[in-house]
Amino acid sequence: MAHYILSIDQGTTSSRALLFDEKGHVSMSAQAEFKQYFPKDGWVEHDPEEIWNTSLHSCRQVLKSLDADRDTVVGIGITNQRETTLVWDRKTGETIYPAIVWQDRRTSEFCQELKQQGLEEGISEKTGLLIDPYFSASKICWILDNVEGARERADKGELAFGTVDTFLLWRLTNGNSHATDATNASRTSLFNIHTQEWDNELLAIFNIPSSLLPEVKDSSADFGISSDSIFDKNIPILGMIGDQQSALVGQACFTPGMVKSTYGTGCFMIANTGKTPLKSNNRLLTTIAYRLNNEVTYALEGSIFVAGAAVQWLRDGLKFISHASETSEMAKKVGYHNTVYLVPAFTGLGAPYWDPNARGALFGLTRDTGIEEIVTAGLQSVCYQTRDLLVAMEKDGAHVTTLRVDGGMVVNDWVIQFLADLLNVSIDRPEIVETTALGAAYMAGLKAGVYKSTEQISEMWHLERRFSPDICQKDAQKLYDGWLDVIKRVKSTL
Ligand code: ADP
Repeated sequence: MAHYILSIDQGTTSSRALLFDEKGHVSMSAQAEFKQYFPKDGWVEHDPEEIWNTSLHSCRQVLKSLDADRDTVVGIGITNQRETTLVWDRKTGETIYPAIVWQDRRTSEFCQELKQQGLEEGISEKTGLLIDPYFSASKICWILDNVEGARERADKGELAFGTVDTFLLWRLTNGNSHATDATNASRTSLFNIHTQEWDNELLAIFNIPSSLLPEVKDSSADFGISSDSIFDKNIPILGMIGDQQSALVGQACFTPGMVKSTYGTGCFMIANTGKTPLKSNNRLLTTIAYRLNNEVTYALEGSIFVAGAAVQWLRDGLKFISHASETSEMAKKVGYHNTVYLVPAFTGLGAPYWDPNARGALFGLTRDTGIEEIVTAGLQSVCYQTRDLLVAMEKDGAHVTTLRVDGGMVVNDWVIQFLADLLNVSIDRPEIVETTALGAAYMAGLKAGVYKSTEQISEMWHLERRFSPDICQKDAQKLYDGWLDVIKRVKSTL
């Protein structure tokens, strides 16, 4: 008998299903994109039925590839776009409003009011987060206040809230399971990461009745069993974990000091900090890396809004390149000592600056600056921002020992080499780069007994290439000082 794990990777732009074999290799995958809705300035919504249908369709497609007599799927792992908020009717399973996506800024004013009331310190103490529309709590409150009759129905216990993991679980189990895992709960701003409980004081601040909330479980747990009508066989759901945490697990970063950085549209860097939640003094987030056997492992997280998106802008906006892969040759020609800086603060600056009003800029232009220098500056901006995060993490007490990278941008060797040079650390690129989907499969596999321990999973991680620092550190410091100088100039004065 061959054993497989089905991983559902429900992302911001597409839903994917991947079948992993016991060795952690992808044997089959399917993907379906869905529509992004922007009903008003700063609003971003998804259609819950599209989320569900694309996920279900992708799962059915990959399951079709199996031989019913010889192959078994031992469990399902779900990883998901985090913070995105859904509210539905407990009886019918119908949502009462579209999914409000993590990027949605409609609750900015409400969050500003909470900050003005001096609540940030207290909220941050309990949740590890800042007050920001990004997290689910203010989005739930908005739905209850703006959908007719919603608050009364919530008070009567007729409604359920969930992030995407919980919504998919509800649908897969035909309403039998209303649960989430600790990593997803830790992004709602309603969950106390120290006591591992929903927090009544936070619920009161955001005016949310506790009857809406799912049960919080380990990331590897018995979440329920798919109902008869879903697949040919009933499959248990054994893993749930938010996407960035899932990538941390997929990269086997199980020891404190191990860091993963994902370079897609944006960049998310997460450091495993072990059993201690490190409080950030540098505006990073303290969050849950994963919870296994009721034991919490904490993480520090920093995000950059624009990473690969800078390359997209150079391609689609400026038309300086026609394909992302051209950037590498250009950068090789220009070299790392490029004196042009691009600050891609198109939508403000993320961690550690959190300046929503900053805007992008180009610095250091001379008469001989050409397309190649600007493109190189675009690639370098991703590395400079990563150093900002690394510096913040180290100031907060994380002792970084290992940096593992993944995401669409890491195929660019030049970028990763410059990253190693600038950060003065070795950077490891794994053989299997499907780390997000893999993490959820590992969580399910642990519960199913396919994997005995995180140590066993660590042994399955294989290095594809190590990039070691190769430039004089004085040069690296000089380049980074230049970056810090331009950052000062783009920061808003507000
Ligand atoms: P997401 O999951 O956020 O959609 P991916 O992980 O698929 O993103 O990565 C895609 C990003 O990687 C794009 O923004 C693209 O510009 C960038 N990218 C892809 N190939 C390269 C390359 N060779 N050099 C630089 N950037 C690249």
